[in-house]
Amino acid sequence: MTDPLLPSAELAYSSPDAQGFFGPYGGTFVPETVIPALEELTAAFAEAIADPAFAEEFGTLLEDYIGRPTPLYRADRLAEATGLARVYLKREDLTHTGAHKINNTVGQCLLARRMGKHRVIAETGAGQHGVATATAAALLGLECSVFMGTEDMRRQSLNVYKMRLLGAEVVPVGEGAGTLADAVTAALRHWVERVEDTFYVLGSAVGPHPYPAMVREFQKVIGEETLVQLEGRLERTPDAVVACIGGGSNAIGMFYPFLRALPPGERPLLVGAEAAGLGVETDRHGAALTKGSPGVLHGFYSYLLQDDAGNPLEAYSISAGLDYPGVGPEHSYLKDEGFVRYEAVTDTEALDAFALLTRTEGIIPAIESSHALAMLPRLAAELGPDAVVVVNVSGRGDKDMDIVREAGLGAG
Ligand SMILES: *Cc1c(COP(=O)(O)O)cnc(C)c1O
Repeated sequence: MTDPLLPSAELAYSSPDAQGFFGPYGGTFVPETVIPALEELTAAFAEAIADPAFAEEFGTLLEDYIGRPTPLYRADRLAEATGLARVYLKREDLTHTGAHKINNTVGQCLLARRMGKHRVIAETGAGQHGVATATAAALLGLECSVFMGTEDMRRQSLNVYKMRLLGAEVVPVGEGAGTLADAVTAALRHWVERVEDTFYVLGSAVGPHPYPAMVREFQKVIGEETLVQLEGRLERTPDAVVACIGGGSNAIGMFYPFLRALPPGERPLLVGAEAAGLGVETDRHGAALTKGSPGVLHGFYSYLLQDDAGNPLEAYSISAGLDYPGVGPEHSYLKDEGFVRYEAVTDTEALDAFALLTRTEGIIPAIESSHALAMLPRLAAELGPDAVVVVNVSGRGDKDMDIVREAGLGAG
């Protein structure tokens, strides 16, 4: 794979290793029965990304179907309101379907087709990854089944309807609490039974090897475009680059090209914003990196919210996309190495940032993305009024209208 952003070998940031470890994190912690499927996938993925025909096909869909490159927009009214010299917004909200998730699902569905699998499965919590997978499956003529907890299906009936419109089957999972963790377990079990014709499309930079590296590969276009778009607009690298962290896919897609292109001393401050929910001092948050400890969940080793016996705790955030008790293994490594700083943002701070962007720029962001936007006043206080900050706006806010209305925004 050629990488034009890599100036010299010494600068290479080259995780994971061949076993999928980012430092101590990641790896493959799954039942024996899943191993052959992961090995087949690892080999097919390596072969695909070495094939220029695959890159060409993916690149064409990124442009013509997803609508890339997405703009890097200079938001001057937002900069003024937050006390910064300049703010640039990477507009993933302008992609087809309105969030970065489509980059990954199109990439994985292309790989599925290349591997001769005619069916894809996915798990979904809030339904965003399910809809993105159903979209890519429709595009590429693949059968699609999405596993979803019964409680989530009740809460997210619009997304259930969208998936069915797109031709996907939604498989209700009634076990446990009927939420995301139960859907993951059911999807994995199903994958093992049907691996000869089925590809499992994972929705974030999580899971056993090779998923974290593969999802990064399909999302790195975000940061690559940003580096190119900054050229000629700035005489220096920006002071900070911010993204929100659920499982960590939009953030690693933004950060990875910066980690590769620049040595540690020359990189902007990279900041990941995770969900503090009602506050990290309460038990109602999703701040795995700030408050969690290393352990195994869903097949990989990483920071996670767990009790003393190692059982995962329930995460909470006002934004469904950040409501996950774990985090992608690469982020755990980047935290320990000090390459990325992670901070937690409360529901209230995110809603304030949501309102601010909406009113200053006429852009209604996803509440997930609002967590990243909430870092702007903090960075202004830390870096001063000359600072230039890039924020990844991972998605648009249309899906969140009921939540912000319930929270009382826009009433006054
Ligand atoms: C799903 C989602 C996220 C969180 O997922 P990551 O894998 O951490 O990127 C963030 N923003 C939006 C808009 C989402 O839909």
